[in-house]
Amino acid sequence: MVQIPKTMRAVVYRGANDLRLETVPVPRIGPGELLIRVAVCGVCPTDIKKIQYGTVPPPRIFGHETAGTIVHTGSRVRQFRVGERVALHHHVPCLECHACRHQAFAQCAQYKRTGITAGFEPAGGGYAEYVRVMPFVLPGVVRIPARNSFLEGAMLEPVNTVLKAVKRLALLPGDTVLVAGQGPIGLMFTRLLALEGMRVLATDLLPARLRLAREFGAAAVHCLKSEGRQKADLRRPKSRITHHVSRNTQHATRITHPPPDPQLSTLIHQLTGGHGLDAAVIAVPSDAVVREAQSLVRGAGQVLLFSHTRRGAEALVDLATVCMDEKDLIGSYSSDFLLQKEVARLVFSRQLDARRLITHQFPLAQTAAAIGLASHPTAESLKVVVVQGSGQKSG
Ligand SMILES: [Zn+2]
Ligand SMILES: [Zn+2]
Repeated sequence: MVQIPKTMRAVVYRGANDLRLETVPVPRIGPGELLIRVAVCGVCPTDIKKIQYGTVPPPRIFGHETAGTIVHTGSRVRQFRVGERVALHHHVPCLECHACRHQAFAQCAQYKRTGITAGFEPAGGGYAEYVRVMPFVLPGVVRIPARNSFLEGAMLEPVNTVLKAVKRLALLPGDTVLVAGQGPIGLMFTRLLALEGMRVLATDLLPARLRLAREFGAAAVHCLKSEGRQKADLRRPKSRITHHVSRNTQHATRITHPPPDPQLSTLIHQLTGGHGLDAAVIAVPSDAVVREAQSLVRGAGQVLLFSHTRRGAEALVDLATVCMDEKDLIGSYSSDFLLQKEVARLVFSRQLDARRLITHQFPLAQTAAAIGLASHPTAESLKVVVVQGSGQKSG
C-alpha cells in the first residue's frame, strides 16, 4: 500500500509571470480515475506563453509533459495497477465527432478539454507532486518499459506533436526538407524526417545545435549568420510595403521582400539538382523565415508552420505563390492520438534518442527558473524539465 499524503507542494500560476510554490490538497480521484506521483514534467513553450502573457485566468497548475508512477486507482479501473510507471497525455479525442471523423483531432471538443489536473482549473498539473487523471484521458496513459526512464516517458507528448506534423507533409523518400530552427522541436523534426528517408537541411543560429542536427541525421546544415536576423524580424518586418493608387482609385498593396540568403539558395540548388525544396518546416516563430521558405520550396511544395502560436499577428505572404505556384502553407498543432503507439516505439527503442535533447533538470521548487531558461535558451540548452524524487535517475 502506497502512503499518500493529504497535502502536497505545487507551483501555482497566480497571474502573468507569477508562479508560487504552495501547499495544496492532493487531488481526490473518482472511481474511473488514476492518481499519479509525478517524476518528470517537461517545460513546454505553449505553457510558457500562457504564463508569461497571462493569457488564461489564474489560478492554475501547469505542466503537461508528464511521467510518473500510479499510486492509486479508482475502484472501476481495471487496466492499470498501482506501481506502474506511465507517461500521460492530457488531451485525448473522442474519435466519434465530426472533427474526429475528419481526423482533425485537435479540433474535437473533448480533445480541447484538459483531462489531467493537480487542482484548480485543469491545466495539466505536472508542476505538482501528484496529478489526477480523468477517465476520458485514460486511453492516453502509456506504460514506460523497465529499461526506459521517466525522462523518456515525458518526451512522448512533444514527440507526438512533431510526428503528427511530419505526417501532414506529402513527401516521397529522398525528398529534401528544410527544418528551420534546431531547438528541441526542430531536432525532433530532423530526426523523424531522416528516419522516414528524407534529406534534411537543418538551419539555426547556433553551431552547437547544428552539430547535434548532423548526429540526428541532417544531410546538410546551414548556420544563419547575421545575429540580429531574428531580433530584427521581431522589431519590424523587413519587407517594404508600397501603396499604389490605381486608376480606379482602389488601393493595392505591393509586397517586396529581400531575396533569400544566397548561400542557403546555393546549397538548396546543389542538394536538389535545382528543383527546390519539397517542403520546409518552420520551427521558429519568425515571419521572415516563413516568407523565405515560401520562396525556396518548389512549385506545389509545402511550408508547415509549427511555432506560430501567437494569435493576432498578420504576416505578409505573396498569395500568388499559394494560388499559382500551388505552394501549400499549412500548420500543425498538438498531438494525434492514433500515433501514440508509433511514438512510443520510436522513443522507447531510442531510434529517436530523446535523452540527448534533455539538457537541464530542475527541482519542483525551481520551476520558475526552469521556465525562465526554456524561454531564454542559451547556446547549450535544449529541452528543460522539472524532476522530482526518482525522476532524476536516467537510464
Ligand atoms: Zn507540450
Ligand atoms: Zn471528437
